[in-house]
Amino acid sequence: MTLDLATDAMLVLIGPSGAGKSTFAARHFATTQVLSSDALRAAVADDPNDLSATDGAFELLHATLALRLGRGRLTVVDATNVEAWARARLLAEARRHRRPAAAIVFDLPLAVCLERNAARADRRLPPTAIRRQHARMRASLDGLAGEGFDQVTVLSTAEAVEAVRWSGGEA
Ligand code: GDP
Ligand code: MG
Repeated sequence: MTLDLATDAMLVLIGPSGAGKSTFAARHFATTQVLSSDALRAAVADDPNDLSATDGAFELLHATLALRLGRGRLTVVDATNVEAWARARLLAEARRHRRPAAAIVFDLPLAVCLERNAARADRRLPPTAIRRQHARMRASLDGLAGEGFDQVTVLSTAEAVEAVRWSGGEA
């Protein structure tokens, strides 16, 4: 499928750790277009796994998002975003700047996320955390349009993720 993204949009990636959000973001977008909670934890604490840096990381994420949306720069939010309150803060920012809000849900099978999580070298979470995030992602699916996203894309297989094209991307 081809993503139809406005050049001034906010794109929120939604999915448990291990779903492939950061890989997708790196493939389709410039690093400056991606606000990653992991990268911003590293920015404040030199360690993407330091959970004590989470508040600071999200402070930076929201501040940068606001500045970018103010300028009409396409911005991708690479965090799990599986909780409605987390998405509500992002949506409020897009609305404030009158920018379109798009969501991509990485609705991959739990087993795939667990398997990739176990195999990864960088940011491995306890399986219980992945299960919880996955359940929250699943519980979010039906309500996303009602939350205020203008466009919701649900990708349910690795093949569907692989097949995404975007007119502004190079991949
Ligand atoms: P995130 O936690 O959602 O940001 O997921 P990542 O993008 O960091 O990916 C988690 C792990 O799965 C990494 O080791 C990736 O290399 C791997 N991965 C991501 N996307 C794919 C994919 O499409 N196919 C396969 N086989 N592995 C992937
Ligand atoms: Mg990631």
